[in-house]
Amino acid sequence: MTECCIDTHAHLRSDYDPRVFEKIQADGIIKQLWLLAHECHVETAAYHPATNKQVLEAAKLFPEFILPFGYINWRKGPEQIEELKNNGFFGLKAIRPIHNYNDLRYFPLYEMAEKLDMPILFHVGIIARRRREELTDPELCAGPDKMRPSFLDSIAAAFPKLKIIQGHMGVPWCNELFESLWYYSNVRASVSGLIDWKWLMENLDCRTESGVPFHRKMMYSSDSYYGVGEPEYVYRGITFMREFFDRVGMTYNWGNAKEDFMHGNAERFLLEKF
Ligand SMILES: [Zn+2]
Repeated sequence: MTECCIDTHAHLRSDYDPRVFEKIQADGIIKQLWLLAHECHVETAAYHPATNKQVLEAAKLFPEFILPFGYINWRKGPEQIEELKNNGFFGLKAIRPIHNYNDLRYFPLYEMAEKLDMPILFHVGIIARRRREELTDPELCAGPDKMRPSFLDSIAAAFPKLKIIQGHMGVPWCNELFESLWYYSNVRASVSGLIDWKWLMENLDCRTESGVPFHRKMMYSSDSYYGVGEPEYVYRGITFMREFFDRVGMTYNWGNAKEDFMHGNAERFLLEKF
């Protein structure tokens, strides 16, 4: 399948209509959605983040099409990871930690995720502006400082079988993505949010320490909220990305980067064992 994509970082609206997903499946543009729960944010009149329970419920309606990622509660221990796995979650979403991602207090969580073969998507770098009152716990970090991309290195080193995904580009520490991708075979980038296009163009041509092209380590994502209305904005973004690879890529050595980036890398990552 060539004209398809996997959205490796997507969200669900709490007021979603399941028929929207039926329509998306029928459109045939998006082959799979990795839906991440967002329990760190309070629901407001304008913002409707789905809970773990709602993400799971949607995934059960559309198995194979929706892969559910449960939100890690930084106050809870590794037993929550086991519970999320037993409930049917495929992976985990890490965002807004109270301490730095690489704080040793969090390592039992990562150890359990590795043991249960649950990938973790870590939001890295820039974060949407939110006031303390809009967070479900006032001690959750409000800025990007506790989510530096390089914090994932010690986690990748300690848990070499854990599947680690850099969510976003890690702005303002974009180049820290490079080092993690270069060194650690179990790290992938899910590219969305504030995209540093210059960085992307330069780095798709790079290679890792073991010689893997960087364009085999990066994955498409929209970071959009699904579930209400047509995903026109996402479809436009997908068309744009394909054009980006066709037109900008014609002057680079990106090889089969378009299909790798849009879906192939995500498909392989799911099957890979590190
Ligand atoms: Zn997101």
